Amino acid sequence: MSARGGLQSPVADIARQARELLVQVRESRWPGFDTLSQQSASPSTPAPVRKLAAILREEPSPWSTLEQIAQAVSACTGCPLHATRTQTVPGEGASKARLMFVGEAPGADEDRLGRPFVGAAGQLLDKMIAAMGFARDQVFIANILKCRPPGNRDPLEHEVAACLPYLLAQIALIRPEVICSLGRHASHALLERKDSLGKLRGRFFDYRGTPLLPTFHPSYLLRTPADKGAAWKDLQLIMHRLKPSGPEQHSPEEYDR
Ligand code: SF4
Repeated sequence: MSARGGLQSPVADIARQARELLVQVRESRWPGFDTLSQQSASPSTPAPVRKLAAILREEPSPWSTLEQIAQAVSACTGCPLHATRTQTVPGEGASKARLMFVGEAPGADEDRLGRPFVGAAGQLLDKMIAAMGFARDQVFIANILKCRPPGNRDPLEHEVAACLPYLLAQIALIRPEVICSLGRHASHALLERKDSLGKLRGRFFDYRGTPLLPTFHPSYLLRTPADKGAAWKDLQLIMHRLKPSGPEQHSPEEYDR
């Protein structure tokens, strides 16, 4: 049994052990790391080796709790968005959530209240979560950016680069069994690829040992309700992945309104 009281899948267990080994390798000051690091810059180096070197190069997270991350975010001036925000929006939910949703950035309502997904899109996300059989406080909801881009414009590359360490630290602490990226921007930032969401959605990717499934952003679904059925299929894939200890799913009508 896992620490969460559910059955831990062998894959999730292997992924956890792999993450712990990577941390140990990074901290061991192994001399071969410099060679690996230099070789990883070459385009002829196999992609998995380049990815491994990139993970090993990352600095260990300075935060050991989600509250510490939220405090650091609230004081952050790491990109120009700090000057225009009303409140930071670090994310919220269960500290040991099995499922984590990641959107792109706070909107006007989130900026005002300091909470993620509380506007119209948030209400739809709540219905999607309920249709999956979860309560909102059983999952964790966050964004790539913790501050609102003015006018809800798209996140810029340097903003994503500056803010991503907070999300990565949250993922490392929560260790969700599945991550669901909402929309193109969140999916691109996490997967480091630029395919259209149509190509990315509906299948799992490996995100540093955690299964990640991209699907539509609730804001898009509000504008394009015809795609709610496809989104529901994506959510069902997640439900299937979270079994046998996953919650009982409800009918799609619960969010398809
Ligand atoms: Fe800091 Fe992120 Fe806010 Fe930029 S968006 S100021 S990096 S918390």
